[in-house]
Amino acid sequence: MERFIDPLSVHKFAVGVSMDLQFQKRDSGQIVLPGEPLGVIEEFIPDAGTYVKDGVIYSKVVGRTLIDYLNRRVSVFPITRGAKVPKVGSIVVGQVSSVQTQLATVRIFKIGKHMLSGFFTGVLHVADAQLRFTESMFDVCKPGDIIRAKVISEKNRMYHLTTKDKSLGVVYAFCSKCGDVLQQRGRRGLQCSRCGNIEKRKTAIDYGKGII
Ligand SMILES: [Zn+2]
Repeated sequence: MERFIDPLSVHKFAVGVSMDLQFQKRDSGQIVLPGEPLGVIEEFIPDAGTYVKDGVIYSKVVGRTLIDYLNRRVSVFPITRGAKVPKVGSIVVGQVSSVQTQLATVRIFKIGKHMLSGFFTGVLHVADAQLRFTESMFDVCKPGDIIRAKVISEKNRMYHLTTKDKSLGVVYAFCSKCGDVLQQRGRRGLQCSRCGNIEKRKTAIDYGKGII
């Protein structure tokens, strides 16, 4: 006989397991990234392409979900063989999503030459931003900027980045006063051609050349 499962109690369980877990009902065919929650062990039997941590089933790969409600099995099939995941040494491109004095968060949407359908989260610490001492991350990048970086380590699916190279850094930045694209103005830094505002960034050598 099949055990009746109250969806609300499953949800409560999931919330109890992890307060910040973005738990949502899954359907077959959804694209998921490594580390995305798929359900709880009360609800499903974890199958290929998944792993379990603290009672929650997560995807191990970039792929599509297959949820077998009849047999209560959840699996993830890789979208492509060797689907792209950042590795130590990978050159990645992403959009800066938030900036604090010490660190910036980056939504990685490209690994090497491969555009991703989803994104990975990268973190850039102020000490890894440039060779010379940098007091504030706000002199390196601002939210909305497009940045090229190298992955230096990976822990718990958080990718730590560096921009300590001429080829790395912001490739597109936007004026924090009017939102227009900032232009490189030699040693003066970046300037907005609409409002004249001058801003600081750690730019890549090919800043503004359209190479992403
Ligand atoms: Zn402006």
